[in-house]
Amino acid sequence: MSETPSICGVDLHCHLDLYPDHAAAVAKAEAARIYTLTVTTTPRAWARNHELTRHTRYVRAALGLHPQLAAERADELSLWERQLPETRYVGEVGLDAGPRFYKSLEAQKYVFQRVLARCAEAGGKILTVHSVRSAPAVLDMIEAHLPIERGTVVLHWFTGSKSDARRAAALGCYFSINAEMTRTDRGRDLIASLPRNRIVTETDGPFTKIKDRATEPSDVPVAADALAAILGLSPDEMAKVVVSNLRSLVS
Ligand code: MN
Repeated sequence: MSETPSICGVDLHCHLDLYPDHAAAVAKAEAARIYTLTVTTTPRAWARNHELTRHTRYVRAALGLHPQLAAERADELSLWERQLPETRYVGEVGLDAGPRFYKSLEAQKYVFQRVLARCAEAGGKILTVHSVRSAPAVLDMIEAHLPIERGTVVLHWFTGSKSDARRAAALGCYFSINAEMTRTDRGRDLIASLPRNRIVTETDGPFTKIKDRATEPSDVPVAADALAAILGLSPDEMAKVVVSNLRSLVS
């Protein structure tokens, strides 16, 4: 973090390789000094993501195997394992028990368990984790396979219950919050219940929209400002909290 002195925002979950111009998307986040964790969905996408973020100060790439692809890409798990030593950041990984992906849940669990076990062996990894309709199962697996001192999970776009969130916090998890999550009463109520020292921001671009275009890392202040309003902080105070939490997360 000493090499990133003036962070203008934190986007801890974004898919820069899904924008029309991947290299330009990385360069734009870097120029805006947004600390961006760009996630990948398949191990085959890693090499290019790694190459584009090798020398960036603000943009880091995470090695993932997305739960929605886990069944069809399970044969890439060994590639994922070989690449793991090349990065400290892992994602997007996790479980998705929504109606479209429920049928692959067993395959997803197999992949996620292997991911957690390899991260626990390696130590020091930071994981950005998807938990759609599966928060209790995701937390069960983290508890069983990734001891708190062996790695840190950031729950991305978390939509579990408040009691799930309390359990996650007790397991050492952080939460990355996007603007979409602040737009429902349920979302705001959940966010207000989270420990302040575990909150960071994200866009999940390009899967979220702002007006009619895909959200980008430089739009993350929209999430930060909505979060500030929920927590009763000024935008400046909120920015300080998020950067301080990021420093704790990566230190
Ligand atoms: Mn995502």
